[in-house]
Amino acid sequence: MKTIEKINMIKREIADLKSQGKRIGFVPTMGYLHEGHLSLMRESLKKTDITVVSIFINPTQFSPKEDFNQYPRDMNRDSAILEKEGVHYLFVPSVQEMYPEGYRTYVEVQGLQDQLCGRFRPGHFRGVCTVVVKFFHIIQPDLAFFGQKDAQQAAILKKMANDLDLDVQLEVLPILRDEDGLALSSRNVYLNPEERKAALVLSRSLNEARRLIDRGERNSAVLIQKIQGLILSEPFTRIDYVEIVDMDMLQAVSHVKGKCIIALAVFIGKTRLIDNTIVHIKE
Ligand code: AMP
Repeated sequence: MKTIEKINMIKREIADLKSQGKRIGFVPTMGYLHEGHLSLMRESLKKTDITVVSIFINPTQFSPKEDFNQYPRDMNRDSAILEKEGVHYLFVPSVQEMYPEGYRTYVEVQGLQDQLCGRFRPGHFRGVCTVVVKFFHIIQPDLAFFGQKDAQQAAILKKMANDLDLDVQLEVLPILRDEDGLALSSRNVYLNPEERKAALVLSRSLNEARRLIDRGERNSAVLIQKIQGLILSEPFTRIDYVEIVDMDMLQAVSHVKGKCIIALAVFIGKTRLIDNTIVHIKE
């Protein structure tokens, strides 16, 4: 595996690979890798000739009060994991490399960026879109892999790629969970044992909603209330939102129909976790 820090260096490598007709797969991450990340890389390794993984904790997607400085980092461990997986390139630019002095250009996807997490993290998706579009220009991937764990991010990036006629196909892969149901996240390391136990209510409440839907419940308000009740019955919980939205435009739906996402963001103590589940009603 080659580790590259400079934009002009990776561009040179990519140009060379492209001239040989290689298909490039790209997996952007913020590091502190877990099996969820690895599932994306394995798919890329399967579907493309060359897999590029980036590790970049992107400051423009964090607000000043968020955990940019505390975000877990372990480059040696991550690098060893990627090497073992057979990833070809690790791109690790510095903040200065990505946003040099005087940087002024940002990308937004209007309409989709303001609901769900966008309501509580203003500017977050602008930061995500900006860094991802920069990466796409630098790495020129044929395929890029993202997790359904960040459902809103996936929907926004798909819209961005479509609106900007980008020559990259986005693949969104399912959420990987621990055996007890907790969605894997780099931020799970913030949880103490009691908080981790309480955090299981997120997947449990989504499963309960699915069960109610299987039994015929369609009313979003009823489903949301059930989820909120379960979450608030656990200690350390504070809800940012529980919403049911359509899959493409992320607009709230009064009744579950077609393809919807039940999405939630909840603080467990000081740690903000997100989770979601896709519901597909075929009637
Ligand atoms: P992050 O490092 O948290 O920015 O995540 C990098 C990529 O991994 C994003 O596309 C995430 O959606 C994806 N990802 C994070 N957690 C999971 C998970 N539990 N299952 C599948 N993909 C995930």
